Amino acid sequence: MRPLPVIATSAIGPGRGTVPSGEAGRASVGTGMPTRDGNAGAAPRPQRSGAPVDTLDRPQRSGAPVDTLDRPLRDLRISVTDRCNFRCVYCMPEEVFGRDYAFLPRAELLTFEEITRLARLFVELGVRKIRLTGGEPLVRRDLERVVAMLAPLSVDLTLTTNGALLAGKARALRDAGLDRVTVSLDSLDDATFMAMNSVRFPVARVLEGIGAAAAAGLAPVKINMVVKRGVNETSILPMARHFRGSGHIVRFIEYMDVGNSNGWRLDDVVTAEAILATIDAEFPLEPIPPDYPGEVAMRWRYRDGAGEIGIIASVSRPFCGDCTRARMSADGSLYTCLFATVGHDLRAPLRAGASDKELRDRIAAVWRGRDDRYSELRSVETVGLPRVEMSYIGG
Ligand code: SAM
Repeated sequence: MRPLPVIATSAIGPGRGTVPSGEAGRASVGTGMPTRDGNAGAAPRPQRSGAPVDTLDRPQRSGAPVDTLDRPLRDLRISVTDRCNFRCVYCMPEEVFGRDYAFLPRAELLTFEEITRLARLFVELGVRKIRLTGGEPLVRRDLERVVAMLAPLSVDLTLTTNGALLAGKARALRDAGLDRVTVSLDSLDDATFMAMNSVRFPVARVLEGIGAAAAAGLAPVKINMVVKRGVNETSILPMARHFRGSGHIVRFIEYMDVGNSNGWRLDDVVTAEAILATIDAEFPLEPIPPDYPGEVAMRWRYRDGAGEIGIIASVSRPFCGDCTRARMSADGSLYTCLFATVGHDLRAPLRAGASDKELRDRIAAVWRGRDDRYSELRSVETVGLPRVEMSYIGG
């Protein structure tokens, strides 16, 4: 089990060098539950793999690159557009992403053919899982066409969406070869949800999308809920209650300091520990091992067998050591960290006629030079650094 939180060594504020483990747990940590190591009195510690180096299945003999911290390249998130039909307060606040915001012109977006070619090269370098994201991926017209083009790569092919357009698309996506979807939903309460998405989008239509995805076989559906203090933490239990026993997996996400526009403050973060304690008080939980090495969510199951939840604790329990993810922006820049400030242009050489080998070498060279571990270094200094927006780089 990993030691608790590691927001950074240098303090974020007086006495705030780390996220206090019981913080939101101002709520209710200290549940008297046994921890995995048998100690009573604290909320159970979530389990991450604690991944011993070998379990990351590092490439042995192939030319597949590992980075400077010995992490292989396994996952690729592809942003297919920087546009979104929501203006979530924690991601694309409308004050910043308003009418005048300069989104990428169409000609700058990678075409589906370009996305597919680059994705194939990533797969040749070790990628086994591809997630289409954005922005909102379903606002890109004919998305199912690129899904069909990527499907023959035989990777785990998934999509993250706000669900607004999912009901009408789920079947076509499944037929095109999509394996699963993750749907973002921050509350079951319309007033709260509408205040968060800022476009008055109702909960019922997202639930319809989730139902359509499950019916189409895009299962298990994962449901992402970003928890922001004072905004939607009262929605934690209703979400757990609603989706228990449904076969869907709710993943509660600590609010992160991505991009420059969401005005993130540590005080707004409800920690994993507090989220767990809240749920565990009503529905006792026990930790379960990760599904695969490098999984971002820590997994917990309901002791009564009603399913599982995940917690993504990138603030209070960073998982940089296990991070095998690359991100490609909609205009073809490669980023090696969600918090990166600099991307590596793949589109220019691609459009200038580079060969597969040249492109593969470029990707491999970027990966070999990778030393990012932002979440482990998060501090007063890093909070103010310029960063690319999550909607551009791909969430
Ligand atoms: N539009 C799609 C959606 O809503 O799922 C995909 C893109 S969105 C950027 C991907 C995920 O990132 C969503 O689950 C969203 O809730 C999450 N996200 C965005 N900003 C975040 C933040 N500041 N902290 C934590 N998660 C965030």
